[in-house]
Parts: sequence; structure tokens; C-alpha cells
Amino acid sequence: MSKVAVVGAGPAGMAATVQLVRSGHDVQVFERGRIGGTLWNARWVDNYPGFPGGISGPELAELMEKHFLEYTDNVIVNDVVDIVKTDEGFEIMGIEFDGVIVCVGTCPNRAGFPGEDKLAEAGLLYYGIADVPDWNGIAEAGVIGGGEASMDMAVNIAMAGIRTTILHRSQPQGILALQELAYTEDGVIWLEEEVIEGRVDGKAVLRTNVAEHAFDLVMVAVGRQAVMPNFVGFTFENPPLGFLVAGDATRGGLGQVSMAVGDGVEMANIMSRYLEALD
Ligand SMILES: Cc1cc2nc3c(=O)[nH]c(=O)nc-3n(C[C@H](O)[C@H](O)[C@H](O)COP(=O)(O)OP(=O)(O)OC[C@H]3O[C@@H](n4cnc5c(N)ncnc54)[C@H](O)[C@@H]3O)c2cc1C
Repeated sequence: MSKVAVVGAGPAGMAATVQLVRSGHDVQVFERGRIGGTLWNARWVDNYPGFPGGISGPELAELMEKHFLEYTDNVIVNDVVDIVKTDEGFEIMGIEFDGVIVCVGTCPNRAGFPGEDKLAEAGLLYYGIADVPDWNGIAEAGVIGGGEASMDMAVNIAMAGIRTTILHRSQPQGILALQELAYTEDGVIWLEEEVIEGRVDGKAVLRTNVAEHAFDLVMVAVGRQAVMPNFVGFTFENPPLGFLVAGDATRGGLGQVSMAVGDGVEMANIMSRYLEALD
């Protein structure tokens, strides 16, 4: 039985795992955080087939996790730092594998203004809804960014009765239905202002090119990028046979759940054909 590593248990990793197990492979999953991945931060997923009317991101994550656990509980909760190419295949955390599918998704970008790290250290600034440990006492929130993720976050927060200001420095971009919702949702305020600096002053104080604003909480949603583990003995540009990547990690930015799931299944099938050829 061939042994395959799946790194990351978001939608891509879960879909790849289910397909690999169904194909008869011994699968070891590595996940550094919570099974479900970025989906925990998505307010409402309208575009994943099979859920008329849509479904909340956390609810979809839970359903996918339940489905995934029907096929395996072989999950090591750890951050994969190195993927090593060996003569026989690959090694991750001292375990040998015939093949690896990397499904690490993306990490949020920092906005890059002075004071951002201090605000984060003070627990006043976060990059994902699911990272906020306590929403009690939050009456005013700021969301930095003008893309789909920032709109989704702003609507999510405003729906909880929190006055939410979106600070965007350029023309907002995103799918029309979400833009319309974010423009019409009660409690969402749009300001075309660029954040110049942030400081902790009881609250999170953001100075923009126009004014100063004080918030109980600041969310940053200014794009995402793939952060790969280290590859030892090979490069991403020239990958060895048996090494595949699926999901948002292949796109470098935010993709969609259906794309990640499709990728996961496709890469699992490619992996199966590769392993069959090895036997
Ligand atoms: C606010 C927001 C709203 C969204 N709304 C929608 C929507 O309405 N519709 C839609 O289709 N999509 C939406 N998305 C996008 C969707 O969530 C992603 O496209 C999808 O989750 C990508 O799946 P993935 O498996 O490729 O990556 P992720 O979901 O990012 O999963 C990657 C997993 O890999 C793990 N990982 C990373 N590095 C390592 C490592 N070195 N070692 C071990 N584990 C690691 C991470 O912890 C994570 O669990 C939204 C995203 C956000 C942020």
C-alpha cells in the first residue's frame, strides 16, 4: 500500500484525502491548525453546489470535517516546516512517503503600516474572524481592505450589531452580489481613506490620510499569499514526480471552495496514477 502525505486539511486537503483513501492509499494528513482551513473565516458561502440558499463557512467546514473523518483520523497536528526529497520518495517529520500533496492554502498579508504589529500584540488587530477570541464589548470595528474578504468580514461583523467601518484606499473590488450586500447592510460605513499609522491608545487608533479613527477592534483583509514549507533537495519550480499542489496554494491568492475541492480530487487521481505506475 502506497503512503501519501497530505499537508493541510482545508477543503483541498480534505477532498484529496477522501479520494486517496477511496483509491486504497495509506494517507497521513498534517494540519497545523483547525481542520477546515480558511472556511472558518467565511461568513456565508453562496456558491458551493448542493446548498440552496448558501451555507455559513463554519457550518460547511464542520460538515466537510465530519465527512473527512469518516475516511481517516490519521491527522498529525503540526506545522510542516520541511518536505525532504529522499532517494525513495519524500520525508516529512521523519516519516517516509511515496508521494506528497501540498494543500496549505494561503496566509493573509500584513497591511504594512507602522504600528500594525503593536496593535496585533495588544489583541486589537486580527487577520481572520475566526482568530478573534472574544467579541464581548466590541461596539466599533474597522476593516482595512476593499476586496471580497474585507466586505465579507464587514457584513459578518455588522450583522452582529457592531458598527463597522471599511477603510479602502482604492476602488472596492468583488463579486457584485457581495458588493451590493456590503453597500446596503445596516451598520457598514465605507470610507475611501488610506491607513498611514496605527497606535494603541486604550483602543486601536488608526490615522489615515484624512482623519483619525478609534476602534475596539481592527480587521485586516488586504490579500493573501501562499506560504509553502521549505523544500529540501528540490525546488517548487522544478518539482519531482510524486509532488503535487492543490487548492488556493496553487493560485497564490484567495480562490474558492469549489475550486479547492476540485483541485484536491484531481490531484488525488493524478497521484493514484503515479503510484500505480511505480508498482
Ligand atoms: C473572508 C472569506 C470569505 C470567503 N468566502 C468564500 C465564498 O463565499 N465562497 C467560496 O467558494 N470561497 C470563499 N472563501 C475562500 C475559501 O475559504 C478558500 O478558497 C478555501 O478555503 C481554500 O481551500 P484550501 O484547502 O486550498 O486552503 P485553506 O482553506 O486555506 O486550507 C489550508 C490548510 O492548510 C493548513 N496549513 C498551512 N500551512 C501548513 C503547514 N506548513 N503545515 C500544516 N498545515 C498547514 C492551514 O492551517 C489550513 O487549515 C472565503 C475566504 C475568506 C477568507
